[in-house]
Amino acid sequence: MSSPSGLVSGDVRRHNLALVLDHLIRTGPNSRSEIAAGTGLTRGSVTALVQVLIDADWLRESYSVSGSKGRPRTRLEIASDTHALLAVQIASDSASVLATTLAGGDLVRLAMDHAGGDPAAVLDVTGGLVAEVVRRLKDMGRRVVDVTVVVLAPVGGSPARVLADVTLGWSTTDVVGELRIRVPDLRAVDLRLSSDTPVAAGAEFRRRGGVENAIYLKGDSNIGGALVVNGTPVHGAHGFAGSLGHLAVVPGGELCACGQHGCLITVAGVYALLRAAQSEPALESMSPSAALDLFVSRVEAEDPLATAAWGQAVPWIGRSLQILSMAVDPATIIIGGHWARLTPSIAAAFATDRPKIATGPDVHVEVVAGVLGAEAALRGAVEAARDRIARDPLALC
Ligand SMILES: [Zn+2]
Repeated sequence: MSSPSGLVSGDVRRHNLALVLDHLIRTGPNSRSEIAAGTGLTRGSVTALVQVLIDADWLRESYSVSGSKGRPRTRLEIASDTHALLAVQIASDSASVLATTLAGGDLVRLAMDHAGGDPAAVLDVTGGLVAEVVRRLKDMGRRVVDVTVVVLAPVGGSPARVLADVTLGWSTTDVVGELRIRVPDLRAVDLRLSSDTPVAAGAEFRRRGGVENAIYLKGDSNIGGALVVNGTPVHGAHGFAGSLGHLAVVPGGELCACGQHGCLITVAGVYALLRAAQSEPALESMSPSAALDLFVSRVEAEDPLATAAWGQAVPWIGRSLQILSMAVDPATIIIGGHWARLTPSIAAAFATDRPKIATGPDVHVEVVAGVLGAEAALRGAVEAARDRIARDPLALC
């Protein structure tokens, strides 16, 4: 287990260092013996690897008294007192920044509304927020080692850019390049850009201990999704796999901004829901995400107009999941965003009118609520960064 065939010695060492770190990240402080038992490495090998990680400022020893004899126990924990991970989220009406330790503890969190539209103005607000967080981290004696920017828009190309998008209303935009100009401190830092939904999905999938075959469907200010098939996230040939808001489910339906007719978003998107519930004026005083949050609360409170509007929309959500589930055969469907709170009604719609092949005694598809809500993308971004860094721990030194 400690020496997978085909790896040369440097790779084996890196692999084993990553094994030790990954074990501690997943299980918290452990003794050397517990690490050996948990990773399958020998005790001697663990002792040597732990020393390398202590010298590299990744781990420190901590002491606790345990057992009836009150003997002190030495345990190892993630140290990394000088590093920070940054996640930046650009939504249609706000920017948020979360800084955490490598172990995942929150350090700084800031958010600010922006007016949307012009990318330069939105990036000015975002850049100002990031610069402030970096300044506070410096005061704490920490340097940023990884930044992930997640956006509510498709991302593609190399280097990655935001592609022309109807939600943000942007043409192709080099978000990473523009942020580097606005935050000079980040010029030498690893900075990546990702669409928010797959990152949010990753965080929810991680909360379930990883998934082999799953669908993530998120209803927030937009509708998005992500698919995992045989343990592999599906990106597709052009990067837009999982654009579930644009599944054309309604025959002869309304024209969507994307150019198709009858997209899921035209019958279950926030604008369609508010229109059906006669509460469109809410959008004059709050963001689409806040308006959907309020709408969901009204459905939960059994407000007649909101309940009727949701009753019209939810069969189309169920139908979309039925079509998808015949394409990818999932074991788990996770409902994210504000829709998570309405998961029972989505599960009921999904369970209606299923084909025999998918309802036999050996077929189990669970429809469950995501647990992270609007937090999922930021949390997923720092967790993915941590996992990436832990795979090559000495690269940080
Ligand atoms: Zn569409």
